[in-house]
Amino acid sequence: MQTTKVFLPEVELPWFWYNILADLPNPPPPPLDPESGDPLDPAALAPLFPQALIEQEMTREPLVLIPQAVRQIYSLWRPTPLYRAKRLEEALETPAKIFYKYEGVSPAGSHKPNTAVAQAYYNREEQVRRLTTETGAGQWGSALAFACCLLGLECTVYMVRVSYDQKPYRRSMMEVWGATVYPSPSRETEAGRQALTANPNTPGSLGIAISEAVEEARKHEDTKYALGSVLNHVLLHQTVIGLEAMKQIELLDAFPDVIFGCCGGGSNFAGLAFPFLKEKLEGRALRLVAVEPAACPTLTRGHYTYDFGDTAGLTPLLKMHSLGHGFVPPAIHAGGLRYHGMAPLISALVDQGLVEAIAYPQRAVFEAAVSFARVEGILPAPEAAHAIRAVMDEAIRCKESGENRTLLFNLSGHGHFDLSAYDLYLKGEMEEDLPSSVELDRAMASILRGRGEQ
Ligand SMILES: *Cc1c(COP(=O)(O)O)cnc(C)c1O
Repeated sequence: MQTTKVFLPEVELPWFWYNILADLPNPPPPPLDPESGDPLDPAALAPLFPQALIEQEMTREPLVLIPQAVRQIYSLWRPTPLYRAKRLEEALETPAKIFYKYEGVSPAGSHKPNTAVAQAYYNREEQVRRLTTETGAGQWGSALAFACCLLGLECTVYMVRVSYDQKPYRRSMMEVWGATVYPSPSRETEAGRQALTANPNTPGSLGIAISEAVEEARKHEDTKYALGSVLNHVLLHQTVIGLEAMKQIELLDAFPDVIFGCCGGGSNFAGLAFPFLKEKLEGRALRLVAVEPAACPTLTRGHYTYDFGDTAGLTPLLKMHSLGHGFVPPAIHAGGLRYHGMAPLISALVDQGLVEAIAYPQRAVFEAAVSFARVEGILPAPEAAHAIRAVMDEAIRCKESGENRTLLFNLSGHGHFDLSAYDLYLKGEMEEDLPSSVELDRAMASILRGRGEQ
């Protein structure tokens, strides 16, 4: 029998997270204080994040120790399997070798608990009682609800309206783990009420939901805020994915030529890619490809500039690829990829040519997802299916050129809560709603307005 998947024993669970900031020759520029325009004083983050996470956001240490209690919880599902997609290779008749790391085996069904557990842990260590957050498709909200439940914290989730309506069972899951869930924009916060006044029928956006969660955390002494992507410390926690994958692929005597990951805020892609990127920086040949939706084309059509992380402008300014914090993406089914910005780390790497970016419209993505499920069995999250689309296209190019490249991608989650989207696709009723250049230009204007540079 040929090897289909590689499991690592629990003792091989990484002891450290890997910090790419230690090795980048040109690290991203710092976050700025929107009032003064100066680099942000870390103390300004204290109302939102515990000290330990603020330190991780800034640190240049190459390795950050994973607390024993966090490793212990990770062991509920980690190490995750690395698969060889032999049946997909055969179906595509490609000489390429295709591998994927599967993060859908976590209790919440995605990679997000890797950071949720760490964040809940550090908050608990600093006597925080409650965490607030936003969630798009519901994966981050479920991950944080799960982590808070295991670590004894309360959890309040603002869930983007369109997902709240499309995925009622994600909400049930969060409530099973004890979280309180509001559709966003909600009437609970000033930011939510403002958004509802502006447009009572808004599908919501991650930017608005972040404003709500941040506002709520600022209002209460014992409450802090948790972000599921974008920030350095989140990407850091996700590197357990790549550190495991590296050992696993070596056990199969392989090394990737190209690594793919879908990109919403950038965390699952970074988690897989960064440990390998270290080798690229040391001279090893390797391509890294970030895949995003054409409906929210942050890396491929956005501007690399300072912008707010949220719609209301409550966060520091981050240097990132952005579509403008006023941009409300079309209601595509990959809700986890509907974010106007991108991790500053990923943005800098794209700007420096170390990472490539491509975008796909959603029907092409669902076509790939269905083909994948029909040969490999696993039903992918629509977000992860973006990476699958890109891998399949690369494998087809390999067939045409006769090159036997090794391709590795992150299957960031399963799609068991996305069946209504699959339903629409199978019935031929899935819409393709792409933003026009005029809409993108209008949203970009919000960046300049936010800075008073009309
Ligand atoms: C949230 C999510 C994403 C997008 O977020 P990143 O920070 O870019 O990883 C991708 N896939 C799944 C399954 C998700 O839950």
